[in-house]
Amino acid sequence: MSRTVIRGGLVVTAAEETAADVLVEDGKVAALAASGSECARGWTADRTIDATGKYVIPGGVDGHTHMEMPFGGTFASDTFETGTRAAAWGGTTTIVDFAVQSQGHALREGLDAWHLKASGNCAIDYGFHMILSDVNDSSLKEMDLLVDEGVTSFKLFMAYPGVFYSDDGKILRAMQRASVNGGLIMMHAENGIAIDVLVEQALAEGRTDPRHHGEVRKALLESEATHRAIQLARVAGAPLYVVHVSAKEAVAELARARDLGLPVFGETCPQYLFLSADNLAEPGFEGAKYVCSTPLRPVEHQAALWRGLRTGDLQVVSTDHCPFCFTGQKELGRGDFSKIPNGMPGVEHRMDLLHQAVVDGRISRRRWIEIACATPARMFGLYPRKGTIAPGADADIVVYDPRAQQTLSAATHHMNVDYSAYEGKRVTGQVETVLSRGVPVIDRREYTGRAGHGRFLTRETCQYLI
Ligand SMILES: [Zn+2]
Repeated sequence: MSRTVIRGGLVVTAAEETAADVLVEDGKVAALAASGSECARGWTADRTIDATGKYVIPGGVDGHTHMEMPFGGTFASDTFETGTRAAAWGGTTTIVDFAVQSQGHALREGLDAWHLKASGNCAIDYGFHMILSDVNDSSLKEMDLLVDEGVTSFKLFMAYPGVFYSDDGKILRAMQRASVNGGLIMMHAENGIAIDVLVEQALAEGRTDPRHHGEVRKALLESEATHRAIQLARVAGAPLYVVHVSAKEAVAELARARDLGLPVFGETCPQYLFLSADNLAEPGFEGAKYVCSTPLRPVEHQAALWRGLRTGDLQVVSTDHCPFCFTGQKELGRGDFSKIPNGMPGVEHRMDLLHQAVVDGRISRRRWIEIACATPARMFGLYPRKGTIAPGADADIVVYDPRAQQTLSAATHHMNVDYSAYEGKRVTGQVETVLSRGVPVIDRREYTGRAGHGRFLTRETCQYLI
């Protein structure tokens, strides 16, 4: 039996902050006791971690990543191996990635393919959502089987006609099924049919630069789709989780639905909180680094997102990590923004950027843990195994130095991508040590993990229905 004690830190969970020592036994949290108390002093251990002056927080749960995701004729540049290693460096100990159903193929085929990519390669634990690209009688039946296997959430797209797109009838059918089998429908809410018309018109008029990616993917077409998804979910009697919310008008749709008491949830991402359409307009072809969908918005949208995170109208911050190298990948869209692979790197920086928001007074420490650890764990059926520090939970624990200074840069990050979206940004706070099920993955800023340590997580259904 292996025992580790973490002594002298401030344990921060979504619920409370306490000066406590944490006893870890065989990969699980065994006990917490007030630092210096007789009880804590009595613990013996093989290993003691001194967390004096540090925070002791649950490992981050990133509910939205795309390792090795095929897109636009290329693949996201992080594999499950490099991407989960980078996640660990940034204090994230669980990812939920997306297995993809191709049109004309079974869900099972897609899920098997993603198991093959991930199995034996991950440094931290991982689960899968299933992307539904082809809603029909047989894929609807397969949804039930996947829920039983712990793949309990399904992503649909109102965008990308001809690739991932589902029309309203297909969306309604999937939602009806989810309302019976307990699956959670995740929605990419953008009116892709209308967007494609605007893309064609822009290109025909010679508006081909990266910034036009943001201009044609209009905020109104995000809010319209968000509204429509909410109404379809109401008709089906299903809960709804809207991914990567970026427009203030979309936040307003979510807020209105929640004011009606509907089980409607929203996620945003650091890129929408910290970056803006100004980045898309950077000179030359630099803006391509920031092409993702939904797109970065004019800077005034940020305030609505922060407000949503404070009021609870937005519940989760995930990364939508989907990196493509500038050289050779983003460059596919030189002269035609519609050919720039959609996605940005970020899995390594989410915990730090949100800690910076704590330092800046935008959110509290407990809200930081809530939106980055506890709520995503609940939303995706992993709580309290993940997302908190409590007896019985997996010992996924981060010792976090709230005073360390760092500068984000491609020269120092661990993601397999040749640029940083936050190049030169200074942040306060840094991960010092990371345990995954009690095993050190990062030890005082050294990588000690290994590919294959991470296990596939079978998830319960959504535990967050209010
Ligand atoms: Zn995504």
